[in-house]
Amino acid sequence: MPEQDLSLKDKIKHRIREAGPMSVAEYMTVCLLDPVQGYYPTRDPLGAEGDFITAPEISQMFGEVIGLWCVQSWIDLGRPDTLHLIELGPGRGIMMSDMLRAASLDAGFKAAIQVWLIEASAALEAVQGRTLAAAGVPVQWAARLEDVPAGPSLIVGNEFLDCLPIQQLICNDPFAGKDGWVERRVGLNDDDSLCFVRIDVPAPAGLTQRLPDGASDARKDNLLETCPAVAQIVDGLVERFAEHPGRALFIDYGPEDTEFGDTLQALKRHEKVGVFSDPGNTDLTARVDFAALSEVALAAGLTASAAVPQRELLSKLGVEMRAVALTRVKPEAKAVIARQLHRLTAEDEMGELFKAMCLSSADLPPPLGLR
Ligand code: SAH
Repeated sequence: MPEQDLSLKDKIKHRIREAGPMSVAEYMTVCLLDPVQGYYPTRDPLGAEGDFITAPEISQMFGEVIGLWCVQSWIDLGRPDTLHLIELGPGRGIMMSDMLRAASLDAGFKAAIQVWLIEASAALEAVQGRTLAAAGVPVQWAARLEDVPAGPSLIVGNEFLDCLPIQQLICNDPFAGKDGWVERRVGLNDDDSLCFVRIDVPAPAGLTQRLPDGASDARKDNLLETCPAVAQIVDGLVERFAEHPGRALFIDYGPEDTEFGDTLQALKRHEKVGVFSDPGNTDLTARVDFAALSEVALAAGLTASAAVPQRELLSKLGVEMRAVALTRVKPEAKAVIARQLHRLTAEDEMGELFKAMCLSSADLPPPLGLR
């Protein structure tokens, strides 16, 4: 069969037959970002009709209060005349659109901002262009953070870190330090199906040189996930903030402390499916290790807030008051607005599982809503 007619699953299998088991990070990268058959480049996956739904898609209140956080951060930065407002992985552009609507109430902020979107998917880039066509501020796209011109900046990323490729390590010998870890990769079983395989030699040094502090608590056979791309993002922030002040706010699902266990998951039409079931056609994410993010940021000289539950951040930013105000304007939507607020903030919904963490350049006041 000609190469272009093969499914992504068959291409992955072919690659494993030729080169041996593939790292989990490579598997995630191919599935999510293959330019022709990858998940993000080929579709708009969000919303009720798609595979998953995110906080900004649930309610406009989410982006609106984050917009107010941005205005306060701009004030904390000393009201610079030009502010790069950068979003990583903007999805359909809804959060940015809601942020801009709320933040435009401050004319000085509105006059200062230049919006930059960093998006891996051409399909979503087109949607973002449509969503933000009437934003009334300059909107541009950049391939990488490094490509945004220097200057004071605010960076936001909602459910961005969870789709960055992770590596999986298994503790083989808790007393052997870095040499005690082996890698879990993606291979083929006897039926020629994709499966996880444990590579029984010490994992390459590149994977174990920067383990989170919590890794030292590992017991035999504990699985640890690491996300090397986080270090690259932190390096990008350090470079940006070296000359001009800035803050980056990340909101995502994951624990405050490093936890062990396999959290790679695939979603299709809002249901969990097997991670090998349909490569390129299911969303793949893994929980974010906020302790590891904080450790990498602090080691690089940034300031890091605590990982604060989403309900705490939103509440401190006034989301309940926003719900009351919206209900006043649209009394017929009272029940809908109450349900949206519940989804964003309740402990058994997104309120507790999702955390927010702000990484900042030195010498800024503590960010609003965080600690
Ligand atoms: N922030 C949005 C979308 C979250 S989905 C929301 O909350 O609704 C993840 C987003 O990150 C998508 O827009 C996806 O295309 C993008 N993305 C995934 N990997 C990326 C990468 N390596 N670089 C840039 N964008 C990426």
